[in-house]
Amino acid sequence: MKRVLVTGGAGFIGSHLCERLLSEGCDVLCVDNYFTGSKDNVRHLLDNHYFEVVRHDVTMPYYAEVDEIYNLACPASPIHYQYDPIQTMKVSMYGSMNMLGLAKRTKAKILQASTSEVYGDPVVHPQVESYWGNVNPIGIRSCYDEGKRAAETLFMDYYRQNGVKIKIIRIFNTYGPRMSKNDGRVVSNFIVQALKGEDITIYGDGSQTRSFQYVDDLVEGMVRMMNTGDDFIGPVNIGNPGEFTMLELAEKIIELTHSQSRLVFMPLPKDDPRQRKPDITLAKEKLDWEPKVKLEEGLKRTIQYFEQIL
Ligand code: NAD
Ligand code: UDP
Repeated sequence: MKRVLVTGGAGFIGSHLCERLLSEGCDVLCVDNYFTGSKDNVRHLLDNHYFEVVRHDVTMPYYAEVDEIYNLACPASPIHYQYDPIQTMKVSMYGSMNMLGLAKRTKAKILQASTSEVYGDPVVHPQVESYWGNVNPIGIRSCYDEGKRAAETLFMDYYRQNGVKIKIIRIFNTYGPRMSKNDGRVVSNFIVQALKGEDITIYGDGSQTRSFQYVDDLVEGMVRMMNTGDDFIGPVNIGNPGEFTMLELAEKIIELTHSQSRLVFMPLPKDDPRQRKPDITLAKEKLDWEPKVKLEEGLKRTIQYFEQIL
């Protein structure tokens, strides 16, 4: 039986990944300090004898005998990662080092949940893996962007220096059930506002773009990446190339929720990227992967979830 460690397993993406790994017959160890995740996200898995949860902060060393590690621990929404930027940087640096050290000792394969944020405010569009990005090193998003970039460096150096079996994926904006309702991310914000009949907050003029992937598509890509041979380490983009402005997203959500909410315009946060869209040629070629869930379908499932919890 494959023993799999998922850091950040009680978070939005991590909980879906744990569910998937259990369904494949893995023995899953979820390590989380509940900073942005929640026990509620994994409560339904606790009856499974092959699922364990450990409360632990990954900036401290952790030891367990495992075969694979998915390293997801890190606050991911701008509100959360800017709340304690020094801790955010520590999670990416010390958290990654601790997990890479564990992978080195146990000879486990380790996958890093990196991000499209490594491209910053990109001048190459769509973003290909070979693009080095356009990142402000001293801004309010830097603790996350530069933290994730440094984590990629650590992964590459553990690979080159110690032969650790690494995998790096760059995740583009992901949404779905179990997003936290107050993490400030655009999909959860708009859906909650629309369902409550509150004003929908568009930052800037709403012409900035993002590409949204449904969480099930991401989990499929993550598992496929982990299962590739040792010769493919990435980085590889995992995202949905469908590109939408925030105005288009708001209008779609108003339509699907039949909401009476109005749009209000608020200042654009500092260093907010203008555009983002993955080039997924590499994922198609190496993982035989591409997203399946269209934005409208994924939004409907997510709206259903928020209707239940609100
Ligand atoms: P999330 O906030 O729901 O999950 C992060 C999890 O990590 C939470 O359960 C949190 O409690 C845990 N955590 C944070 N600090 C920790 C620490 N020091 N020790 C142990 N656990 C800790 O966010 P998510 O959207 O599920 O993101 C998961 C991962 O995917 C993150 O690494 C994130 O950077 C990456 N990612 C997400 C997206 C996205 O759109 N959701 C995009 C790109 C990358
Ligand atoms: N955004 C918005 N209204 C909101 C929340 C976010 O217009 O209530 C915008 C935000 O400025 C950004 C985009 O939506 O341009 C995506 O924001 P999110 O925080 O979800 O992700 P990220 O900026 O990290 O891609």
